[in-house]
Amino acid sequence: MKKKIAIIGSGFASLAAACYLAKEGHEVEIFEKNAEIGGRARQLKKDGFCFDIGPTWYWMPDVFERFFADFGKKPSDYYELKKLDPAYKVFFGKDESITIGDSLEKICAAFEAEESGSSKKLKQFIEEAKNNYDIAIKDLVYRPGVSPMELVTPTTARKIGQFFSTISKEVRKEFDNQKLIQILEFPVLFLGAKASNTPAFYSFMNYADFGLGTWHPNGGMYKVIEGMESLARSLGVQIHTNSPVLEIYVEQDTATGMLVKNQESRDKSVRDVPIAIGTEKRLKNTGKPKDIKPTGGNKKITADYILSGADYHHTETLLPEHKRQYKESYWQKKTFAPSALLFFVGFNKKIEQVSHHTLFFDTDFEAHAKAIYDDAKWPEDPLFYASFPSVTDASVAPENKEAGIFLIPLAPDVEDTPALREKYFQKIITRFEKLTRQNVTDQILFKESFCVKDFKEEYNSYKGNAYGLANTLLQTAFLRPKLKSKKVHRLFFAGQLSVPGPGVPPSLISGKLAAGLIQKEMKL
Ligand SMILES: Cc1cc2nc3c(=O)[nH]c(=O)nc-3n(C[C@H](O)[C@H](O)[C@H](O)COP(=O)(O)OP(=O)(O)OC[C@H]3O[C@@H](n4cnc5c(N)ncnc54)[C@H](O)[C@@H]3O)c2cc1C
Repeated sequence: MKKKIAIIGSGFASLAAACYLAKEGHEVEIFEKNAEIGGRARQLKKDGFCFDIGPTWYWMPDVFERFFADFGKKPSDYYELKKLDPAYKVFFGKDESITIGDSLEKICAAFEAEESGSSKKLKQFIEEAKNNYDIAIKDLVYRPGVSPMELVTPTTARKIGQFFSTISKEVRKEFDNQKLIQILEFPVLFLGAKASNTPAFYSFMNYADFGLGTWHPNGGMYKVIEGMESLARSLGVQIHTNSPVLEIYVEQDTATGMLVKNQESRDKSVRDVPIAIGTEKRLKNTGKPKDIKPTGGNKKITADYILSGADYHHTETLLPEHKRQYKESYWQKKTFAPSALLFFVGFNKKIEQVSHHTLFFDTDFEAHAKAIYDDAKWPEDPLFYASFPSVTDASVAPENKEAGIFLIPLAPDVEDTPALREKYFQKIITRFEKLTRQNVTDQILFKESFCVKDFKEEYNSYKGNAYGLANTLLQTAFLRPKLKSKKVHRLFFAGQLSVPGPGVPPSLISGKLAAGLIQKEMKL
């Protein structure tokens, strides 16, 4: 029977859930607090430049294909994908860099050049990683984390040792070269934890990296959000932006509705996203949406089911205290994925020596990881990531100019001030100039920043986390915050703090899993 389902947030998880539920014939409405949909994957447009504010690495293309196939569609119905070659480049010092190509053969050659005999070991390592990928991504991650038994299969039983060893240990068993070790430990950073705290089974991320490759949707990751929006609308989903949910109503232990602030309808025209500059002023929208119709005041929405794709911790604060499943002490003990300091820079020239994705691993990896996970302080000499999407995608910057995104991973909840942001920009841009042997500072047309305070204010993110709750052994599958509330009937959760975990592909899967649980409950 057709039900009314209200969804909080419009990130990948919420949009995916909305599509599945609307496909089943339900009346689905999304309520998003921000002016634009997409959550952490929003986009900043400025002076002819276009930046993805959040995700930039399109990995695991099979997960996106599987999502769209569930609706009889393909990614190419919505956006144009290309495989990047090189996939990325890693700087270890002034004249030291390794380029990762778009095939295992090319990567083996790069490894062999660095350490004789390493390509053979790499092939074996990736073969095992592929095997893990086939088990994990094709099957396990599509289980809703309801029971530990979901993880017990004849194949996982054979892999049990890999749950009690770590990526770090397994990589170091095979490789001695520090640069190769760092490259092989890099993919698990997407899972939000240190390689020394991530089960070896997660080597499937290495297969995602070297086996499946790095892709780019023309126009940026936001094209995926737009594709999902288009699909959702075609299925009848209604989307309301500028509509923060203030409260979830619970009557007799059942979610019955929500209090929503100042509803407005979604404008289809492209406009800039209001992200913060420094911590002081906010970027103004350049285009006034035409069809926004504020109704003013707060509105009570009734619903048969509520699904929240907003950060789990925040969603629970919308409930009366005794209806929350997890106490503050629960969240405080959890390992959160890092927060980040981001810069979006318009350069007045093409930048040399860089790839679309470029990593700067020229400082002490361990010291930076310790600052994030153990000491919760700003790192002395941070590693950083830089993306120059205009190297391969002419649509994201004016001719002969470059769009640059810089990211420094940080401990959640560290102090965030304009002075600290600037200090760290100077630190990395000085190193960047030295390592890539060029001056870029005098070519900066503008720069915007986004950090801990913005993650909190823009997304209601717990401690300003960027990527949600890390996938450590004790925060995997059924050990993660549940998709279905244990205390409030008809209330469900999705997204990167829940099952299966952080990243765009897992968020998509999370939406599918939560929608599946709702559908299952309706049939009971
Ligand atoms: C800087 C950065 C880089 C990243 N890089 C990558 C990458 O390269 N590849 C990759 O795969 N992943 C990457 N990730 C992770 C990936 O972006 C996230 O895992 C994913 O986008 C999370 O989606 P979500 O739907 O779970 O949550 P979100 O995108 O956070 O969506 C939640 C939504 O809920 C809304 N909301 C919150 N509170 C309320 C409320 N009270 N009422 C209404 N709405 C509310 C928020 O505004 C938001 O729109 C990155 C993340 C960040 C931040």
